[in-house]
Amino acid sequence: MIQLYIPLNFLGVLYREIKQSLTDLDKMFVLMDREREVADAPAATALALQGAPDVVFDHVSFAYESDRPILQDISFTIPAGKTVAVVGPSGSGKSTLARLMFRFYDVQQGNICIAGQDIRQVTQSSVRRALGIVPQDTVLFNDTVAYNIAYGQPGASQSQIEEAARAARIHDFIASTPKAYQTSVGERGLKLSGGEKQRVAIARTLLKNPPILVFDEATSALDSANERAIQAELASVAQNKTTLVIAHRLSTVVDAHEILVMESGRIIERGNHAALLAQQGRYASMWSMQQNAEVSHSSVATSSAT
Ligand code: ADP
Ligand code: MG
Repeated sequence: MIQLYIPLNFLGVLYREIKQSLTDLDKMFVLMDREREVADAPAATALALQGAPDVVFDHVSFAYESDRPILQDISFTIPAGKTVAVVGPSGSGKSTLARLMFRFYDVQQGNICIAGQDIRQVTQSSVRRALGIVPQDTVLFNDTVAYNIAYGQPGASQSQIEEAARAARIHDFIASTPKAYQTSVGERGLKLSGGEKQRVAIARTLLKNPPILVFDEATSALDSANERAIQAELASVAQNKTTLVIAHRLSTVVDAHEILVMESGRIIERGNHAALLAQQGRYASMWSMQQNAEVSHSSVATSSAT
């Protein structure tokens, strides 16, 4: 019996490992979507970077399906180490900008350059190493919290992982679970809320510490106290990094170098916060609507607290 037990147990582990990696692979392909259609150019070399690079979208047009244009003639520059913010209604193409920057898809017209290099001419892997994305919807791997935070950084130490988790305000929660950082999460483990998953993704990006950051409504699933705290953390991380912020709450974009207001795949207004307010257009009306909403929300919060 004992002799049988060992190999069977071993097989069980092996089976779980294989099944686990297949699940992860599946997830990766879902995450990467059509990534396999985007191939490295034959002589592609690694993206060459010295510190934070500038990122340039130059007359970019893009469609997921040829008969339905999504982005039309988009041009903007994120100067090295600066932040550009994108706002606009849902479906206007904001997340598509992030996906193109990560080269999930290739543009149909124009080009995207990082530090003067067309991202189609360098290896995909080097582009992805240079970018950290906190996406709208985080999919976690069926593995431990530690694995999920250190994903892409296999050499990370436990103290680095914890430091990132503290900054993303998820450490206390992790520490309170039965196996702490060794707790399994995902479909077959502990179910995390949208906000908790988002904080794991933020911790992962903080740990990766890339020169280019993309926050796609990165704190939208958080309650406002956590959102403010993490917002401050993200702002300090974004210092001196080239950052694209896709924001649903305008208070987070006030300090951006430039704000792009998108609608139906086009930039309809652009400028810094003060210039856009002075323009009294779409941004200005979005701003006053949100200010009013926040005032009424906080008065509700105050009255219920008393
Ligand atoms: P936003 O982030 O501003 O809400 P998105 O960039 O996600 O907008 O989407 C812009 C448009 O592209 C939407 O109309 C959306 O339905 C469409 N879209 C997004 N992803 C895909 C896809 N994989 N295939 C086809 N259409 C898509
Ligand atoms: Mg989006």
